[in-house]
Amino acid sequence: MQFTIPFHLENFIAGKFIGPLSGRFMDNVNPATGEVYSQIPDSNEKDVDLAVSFAQKALESWAATPAESRFKILNKIADLIDENSEALALAETNDNGKPLWLSKKVDIYRAAANFRFFAGGQMHFSADSHNMEGKAINYTLRQPIGIVGCISPWNLPLYLFTWKIAPALAAGNCVIAKPSEVTPVTAFLLGKICTEAGLPDGVLNIVHGTGPNCGEAIVKHPKIKAISFTGSTRAGERIASIAAPMFKKLSLELGGKNPNIIFADCNWEKMMRTTLQSSFSNQGQICLCGSRILIEAGVYEKFKTEFIDRAKQLTVGDPLENNKQGAIVSKVHFDKILNCIEAAKQEGGKIVLGGNAVKPAGRCSNGYFIEPTIIEGLGPNCKTNTEEIFGPVVTLQPFHTLEEALQLANATEYGLAATVWTQDISRANTLAAKLESGIVWVNCWLLRDLRTPFGGVKNSGVGREGGWEALKFFTEAKNICIEY
Ligand code: NAD
Repeated sequence: MQFTIPFHLENFIAGKFIGPLSGRFMDNVNPATGEVYSQIPDSNEKDVDLAVSFAQKALESWAATPAESRFKILNKIADLIDENSEALALAETNDNGKPLWLSKKVDIYRAAANFRFFAGGQMHFSADSHNMEGKAINYTLRQPIGIVGCISPWNLPLYLFTWKIAPALAAGNCVIAKPSEVTPVTAFLLGKICTEAGLPDGVLNIVHGTGPNCGEAIVKHPKIKAISFTGSTRAGERIASIAAPMFKKLSLELGGKNPNIIFADCNWEKMMRTTLQSSFSNQGQICLCGSRILIEAGVYEKFKTEFIDRAKQLTVGDPLENNKQGAIVSKVHFDKILNCIEAAKQEGGKIVLGGNAVKPAGRCSNGYFIEPTIIEGLGPNCKTNTEEIFGPVVTLQPFHTLEEALQLANATEYGLAATVWTQDISRANTLAAKLESGIVWVNCWLLRDLRTPFGGVKNSGVGREGGWEALKFFTEAKNICIEY
């Protein structure tokens, strides 16, 4: 396939690319260079309404399409993503600022995997039956919801966009999807791939725009019956306040402030290597990053020294070159992270590594880069340790006992993921059961099996994605009771 990225990106509605009805566009910036390199539709409720009207037309036929036909189309989309992975990875890196090797290895690979996984999954999806001894039989139909809305963030653009769209389509729904306005390009390219793969017009509609103008129009639209959202806790709260009184089905995957708990008896080398990744991968812009590192007091100094040494090796610079760290996604986010580092100093934190913006030479001299930053000396209740920073910034806190580790780990309003490093299986199990989070990794991080439930507790969200959870979310259960 030939991909050309036009200066003006357009919405993908009913299988066609069309500009926003208002004619208004917004700048799209390459964060590694600071240059505006395209413009995206500033869509509003009229564009969403148009998309819904075509989704409505496509719905009956798509919902009735046999699972095997859906399997073929979704698999074809996965194949086309793989075949075009170089072009998609380059587009992702230019749009998001992440290193090109990371876009290839993680983002684009996973976007294809998402479609492949749910293509196969829906072939095996089945519903229950309940026999009432000699009296009646109940069987449950799992039917598509209808038209659903999928709204995704900028940190893993095509990866998270497809993580929602794939199960929604697999379950027989028509979709109105909005990528982040900060990283719209790979979602734009997905439209072309879907047409090529034979997805019928109107089944997937992609509208671009801001959260308040376009995102809220999706959330408010009366014909859109479910909202699957990944993004900030603040936006999740707003979305829930609109969707809940309309009795929409809601899945909210929100922010995190995840603890990474390290005991002295752990496999040290593996822990060090993985902790470097869980702290700074994707410039720390992964909801699952372990931004609060809790270390058993006896090895605190040893950990700190070694961790600083290793983090110093992380080269920061042009994401198209072989650097470990690329650009922060936008100027707004870059400023926010630097402000958080400043606030950490005001709170009494000691910056033991980094803390500054980086200005690479050459084409990236106006880009948004920040050094890997390590902060110590702050207690569990300060802003730095309770609010999400979502950048290459981690804090270190010592603990003396398992109980203290647990108390520190559970000390935030978030509850997305936690990591535990120990060779003591009973300690690992005790912690895993008591940690207030939706996901616990023991002696690993970001090891994902797409069949497992994915999501957070507390302010990290409501509902679970992944495997049957996603297919259940995107279907309505209807029970039919037949008396013998
Ligand atoms: P964001 O909430 O600003 O935006 C996310 C998406 O929601 C964007 O498409 C945006 O346009 C849209 N949006 C914003 N306000 C909206 C509104 N009022 N109505 C409808 N749509 C709206 O988040 P972001 O800055 O793009 O992403 C970073 C956040 O996402 C972090 O908090 C991170 O932890 C979270 N995140 C969570 C997960 C998870 O699985 N739990 C995964 C990735 C990112």
